Amino acid sequence: MKTIYYTTIVDKDVKYNAKQFGEEVDMYLADPDGWESKGYNFVRVQSHTPMKTVKIHLSTPSATHKMGCHMGLSCAELGGYVIRINAMRWVHGAERTHLSLEDYRQYVVSHEMGHILGYDHVYCPAPNQPAPIMMQQTRIGIGKCKPNNKVNI
Ligand SMILES: [Zn+2]
Repeated sequence: MKTIYYTTIVDKDVKYNAKQFGEEVDMYLADPDGWESKGYNFVRVQSHTPMKTVKIHLSTPSATHKMGCHMGLSCAELGGYVIRINAMRWVHGAERTHLSLEDYRQYVVSHEMGHILGYDHVYCPAPNQPAPIMMQQTRIGIGKCKPNNKVNI
């Protein structure tokens, strides 16, 4: 098991309950079909210590864009420590994933955490296969793949 420390931050210009966001992220990271199934274990800390703490922000679309995300998307540094989740999508979901709002949230948390863990994008492997978690489901859609938000497919 590799332990990943993280903290959750609702940016000042985003109207969303910080406690709720933290608890939602906790739940998605703890999902048995998420990265825990690949040998990771996630522990939320309240401050930025220990040193290598992943900062999971809920940010406005313009803040995510300024960080270098494609307009309208969430993003994370590959192998880094900062995730920015687009607050508009967190509240409204993303049609192209063909997932419900809750399932989309699971997808986005797992996808962005995947980048932190060093995983880059992949494509749909074959028609009718589950869409991989590291596929850009919200940007290019899921193509001929089936909707999926699980890491361990
Ligand atoms: Zn991505």
